[in-house]
Amino acid sequence: MIKIPQATMADDYPLLIKNLLHTPLQNSPDNVIVSGEYRFTYAEFYQRLRTLANGLQSLGVKHGDTVAVMDWDCHRYLECFFAVPMLGCVLHTINIRLSPEQILYTINHAEDDVILVHEDFLPIIEAIRERITRPVQLIFLTDNASAMPAEFVTDYTSLMQVDPGDYEFPDFDERTRATIFYTTGTTGDPKGVTYTHRQLMLHTLGGMAGFGTLAGTFRFHNEDVYMPITPMFHVHAWGLPYIATLAGVKQVYPGRYEPARLLSLIQHEQVTFSHCVPTILHMLLSAPEAEATPLQGWKVIIGGSALPEGLAQTAMDAGIDICAAYGMSETGPVLTVANVPSEQGDVVSMRCKTGKALPLVDLAVVDAEMNPLPHDGETAGEVVVRAPWLAQGYVKNPEGSEALWEGGFLHTGDVGHIDPEGTLQITDRMKDVIKSGGEWISSLDLESLASTVPGVAEVAAIGLPDERWGERPMLVVTLGDEATEETVKDAIIQQIEEAVADGTQPRWAVPNRIECVDAIDKTSVGKLNKKALRLRFSQSSDD
Ligand code: AMP
Repeated sequence: MIKIPQATMADDYPLLIKNLLHTPLQNSPDNVIVSGEYRFTYAEFYQRLRTLANGLQSLGVKHGDTVAVMDWDCHRYLECFFAVPMLGCVLHTINIRLSPEQILYTINHAEDDVILVHEDFLPIIEAIRERITRPVQLIFLTDNASAMPAEFVTDYTSLMQVDPGDYEFPDFDERTRATIFYTTGTTGDPKGVTYTHRQLMLHTLGGMAGFGTLAGTFRFHNEDVYMPITPMFHVHAWGLPYIATLAGVKQVYPGRYEPARLLSLIQHEQVTFSHCVPTILHMLLSAPEAEATPLQGWKVIIGGSALPEGLAQTAMDAGIDICAAYGMSETGPVLTVANVPSEQGDVVSMRCKTGKALPLVDLAVVDAEMNPLPHDGETAGEVVVRAPWLAQGYVKNPEGSEALWEGGFLHTGDVGHIDPEGTLQITDRMKDVIKSGGEWISSLDLESLASTVPGVAEVAAIGLPDERWGERPMLVVTLGDEATEETVKDAIIQQIEEAVADGTQPRWAVPNRIECVDAIDKTSVGKLNKKALRLRFSQSSDD
């Protein structure tokens, strides 16, 4: 290796999260971050980060400690996204939708030293506190000046009143652990996923380049107004708060998700760029306030699950610039984003494609022996990936880590194909794939087809055990207002039969059974919980 000559005072600029702040502080220090009644400029935000870091240090928090957060999406959470790792600590973003027992598992597994707890989550902490195995310091978060319970060491407001003096964020190795969180794990215990500063920085740059170079539709730029509608505990709100901060745009944090509040913020703060799972967008568009809210030009990334064409069409009818993106907890998360050529902006199917790889992402579909499959837009296999920001393994789980990285690529567990232009299309998740008579049926295709039927509010396709065929597809549906069960069931069957007739679906894709239910089971991050649905319907008496 030829060693590069280096001046004695040359700066070996580390990829540390603190270095994301130079650009907004220089280029847009007066842009604001909005959260409830608070409005901070980036310059004030930086001072608050210094104050928070200094306050945590005054409690004895030191490099390498783990600081956990249980809060809604607000300015405090954003402050922790930066100040905690910038101190050299690890930020544990606790998934507040897990059961108390699972939350306890994650707190003990991550070895939290400090937990910031919003008052809404006190009952959870009360229920598990005695079983937290390490001594933890609790910091109280309130929006209503509520009294702090005795077991807490301080509250956020008091912490933010400590003068930071000449506090400066330290430099350290860019491969220092910055964050930890747990995948919601539909099977077994939650799995700990962790990212370093370097990985988060590279994901930020890759995401910014990927979203910022889209032609015409959907491009993220420095005049956007950003508001997440993905919980900040779900893979760092998909990394977008870091991207938005580097871009120095106005940011809006909505607190607890209530459709009326979200719609009002979109309108009054002139939000232009958001991201969420399909369920949340569906909830927003079905809210009574949606009709009177101008949504023209609002850009929304849909991820976490496939974007069904029915939902995309409804969104586009409301003027929303919608598109799908794809990734997972272990991949930073973003891997791909739908690329919609300018002249095809109104083609709904283009917006629902899983998309093209972000810069630096090396994506492949492979067979069971890890042989790469042709990019013919047809041959499906497991999606495997390399990128400079992927989780290197699961925390304290060597077996899971080895399986994740078998053969030198990260295994997504998703099934898809790549076309000659490089567009990935996920056709199923390995666990969710329906195999009937030895042939694959895409549950996502069935959901997409059924979602376009009038009267269908939400739909999940699952495979149920069948003596003859191994598995047969079943649809579980919730109905919109005024829809009747029989009409909707008939219309879904007709829709899928038409797809069979035009050759886009195999004959065996027509479901044997459709059930209308009041609510479809969801995971803690709002995705269809297929495991629960399979359990529920394989045990039901009429099966
Ligand atoms: P999680 O780790 O909870 O974010 O879940 C990641 C999984 O969600 C992926 O492995 C996919 O199965 C699924 N997923 C995420 N985005 C998409 C998408 N655009 N289309 C289809 N499935 C998706």
